[in-house]
Amino acid sequence: MITAVTGGKGGTGKTSVALSLALSMGDALYVDADVEAPNAAILLGVEMKEIGTVTKTVPKINEDKCTKCGLCAQACPTAALVFIPDKVPLFFEENCLGCMLCKEVCPVGAIEEVEETIGTMRAGRKGGIKIYDAVAEPNVEETAPIVSKLLETALSRKEENVIIDTAAGIHCNVARAIMPADKVIIVTEPTPYGIHDLKKIIKLVRTLNKPFEIYANKWGISQKYEQMIEMIAKEESVPLKHIPYSKDFAEHYAKGKFTPLRVI
Ligand code: SF4
Ligand code: SF4
Repeated sequence: MITAVTGGKGGTGKTSVALSLALSMGDALYVDADVEAPNAAILLGVEMKEIGTVTKTVPKINEDKCTKCGLCAQACPTAALVFIPDKVPLFFEENCLGCMLCKEVCPVGAIEEVEETIGTMRAGRKGGIKIYDAVAEPNVEETAPIVSKLLETALSRKEENVIIDTAAGIHCNVARAIMPADKVIIVTEPTPYGIHDLKKIIKLVRTLNKPFEIYANKWGISQKYEQMIEMIAKEESVPLKHIPYSKDFAEHYAKGKFTPLRVI
């Protein structure tokens, strides 16, 4: 069974729920797919070892060969190449899809393909919990390819119990992390932002056609927003579980220490 733990908003306790679930299983593969800020290994005190890199193919213009015709910039579908008359086109890697159309149209063969490292994958273990994560290189904007490669590597182990801890938000990398899941747990909290982002992540999970449950963290801090979460769960006809607010847990977490959550 592959379970993805997600939450539209950061700071709802998504990783705490995912780790608590993995620890309760005793033997599990834990994929930390929050590649911009993986922290499960830190919370469990696991030393991670590099197991491979993730690369992206990008164009490189040979300035000595370039005749400054601008055809590559005209052909580029994402404005990753910008032409200024009498200059070698400027390259904006964050916009580049790696399609190599620019190379195809260059009349003098001035463009070559180079592999750029965009992330590093790591693995570690604590007891029966096998952790896989990845760290995106700074300035890499599109991290979904890193998540894809991380999932491909981790899921090739064919483990029975898998927990995927997604990034916060509803970006491509979150959708990519949810895709292999048999079931999704959406973690939220009784706050205005929690409600707002809960609605958005439900929409994404529904689009991906995945069964889901809602875990409401910090239960007991606002009756008004708790009632709203109950209403959403009822409208969606999905189970709702509660995690009582714990000041001790929050203080421990802030110090980088983890204690499993109690889910009711
Ligand atoms: S590889 Fe594609 S997206 Fe990237 S610069 Fe070339 S044409 Fe543009
Ligand atoms: S198409 Fe080739 S020659 Fe023309 S500007 Fe681009 S890199 Fe230079």
